[in-house]
Amino acid sequence: METYDTGKPIQETIIADATSGADALEYFGGLAGSLTGEHIQLGEDFVYTKREPLGLCVGIGAWNYPTQIACWKGAPALACGNSMVFKPSETTPLCALKVAEILHEAGVPAGVYNVIQGLGDVGAQLITDPRVNKVSLTGSVPTGRKVYSAAAESMKHVTMELGGKSPLIVFDDADIEDAVGGAILGNFYSSGQVCSNGTRVFVQKGILSKFLARLKERTEKAVIGDPLDENTNFGPMVSERQADIVLGFIKKGIEEGATLVLGGNKLDRDGYFIEPTIFSDVTDEMTIARDEIFGPVLSVLSFETEEEVIARANATEFGLSAGVFTQDLKRGHRVIDQLEAGSCWINTYNLAPVEAPFGGVKMSGVGRENSKEAINHYSEVKTVYVAMTPVEAQF
Ligand code: NDP
Repeated sequence: METYDTGKPIQETIIADATSGADALEYFGGLAGSLTGEHIQLGEDFVYTKREPLGLCVGIGAWNYPTQIACWKGAPALACGNSMVFKPSETTPLCALKVAEILHEAGVPAGVYNVIQGLGDVGAQLITDPRVNKVSLTGSVPTGRKVYSAAAESMKHVTMELGGKSPLIVFDDADIEDAVGGAILGNFYSSGQVCSNGTRVFVQKGILSKFLARLKERTEKAVIGDPLDENTNFGPMVSERQADIVLGFIKKGIEEGATLVLGGNKLDRDGYFIEPTIFSDVTDEMTIARDEIFGPVLSVLSFETEEEVIARANATEFGLSAGVFTQDLKRGHRVIDQLEAGSCWINTYNLAPVEAPFGGVKMSGVGRENSKEAINHYSEVKTVYVAMTPVEAQF
């Protein structure tokens, strides 16, 4: 169903999408019974805290991971005792309905997890509804800005999982096959339609030509084809609109002087297939190095020093993710410490297990999904002060 909804290869969707949704349901289902408050002793008096549900939570999803997003929002919301109204993207309306069906089959009472279809205006109406206590959006920065400010009108809680333009930094001493693998995973999985992708691949000068050669060689092996064929490992774009956006960026990259190393074309076959595309000689001010493309376009930028690459990596309004490839452990941690990003990797890229918090800083969002952190974003704390001593009033 995920493949029908998105066009992503079934080779991916059976291991990454349905599985990640199921992981979230199991993880938060397990966590539900462990949610406790605190006891704070204050002499004879004491305070206890209780974790309470927020009430009605609205989830609004992007089209790139319809099953995962429906579960990443629904599972922690329900585990904390909330109900949810989820609006999937109209581009991919099917999977959330299946999630709802599964939840009902598993015994979740009617009305606890609900799916409503519609375009952005339906989402906008949900946010302003006074019965709603929280909004969690996965989407683009412009939509995030609108949703966040609409939610602020009535002081609703928010989680914003928005876009990115993340750096993936490869130092001279990196294991080159791992680094190339990371760049491929971080740019071509789901045909590049992944928010945390490391689309600015900074490669240190000493290994630049070797890195580019291996990246090209390995990317040429992509099996592009029918997403329902299990041999296919690179599918089409989700829609004609998204394909046109990506082709526009590729054109811009060429016009602005980047070197096209591989791909760059729309394939002459049914569906919105764009070849995996690699640019080199990309500079920081080029459009393809600044804007989120959300397609299979990898930009290689070269660098010389650690200090330089950290400054350049951080010179973006986004802050979702970052990756570093190096065999020097101290450098790995030192560099990651200085990168302005919420979800980071050392010597791998784009793994997002449910046990780990996920989310961005700067314009990439607020709040975190997954892990125990998500509990804080789907519940609130009630503080109860209990006096065991006489009340001492001033008069
Ligand atoms: P959009 O921001 O266009 O849409 C996201 C969702 O919001 C859709 O369901 C959309 O409805 C809805 N929406 C649009 N306008 C409003 C509004 N005014 N009020 C309420 N809801 C609204 O994103 P895309 O679907 O195009 O997804 C791609 C974007 O999502 C990328 O920028 C990507 O980076 C980001 N993303 C972020 C992730 C993260 O975790 N950080 C993960 C995945 C994607 P509809 O489209 O049906 O009209």
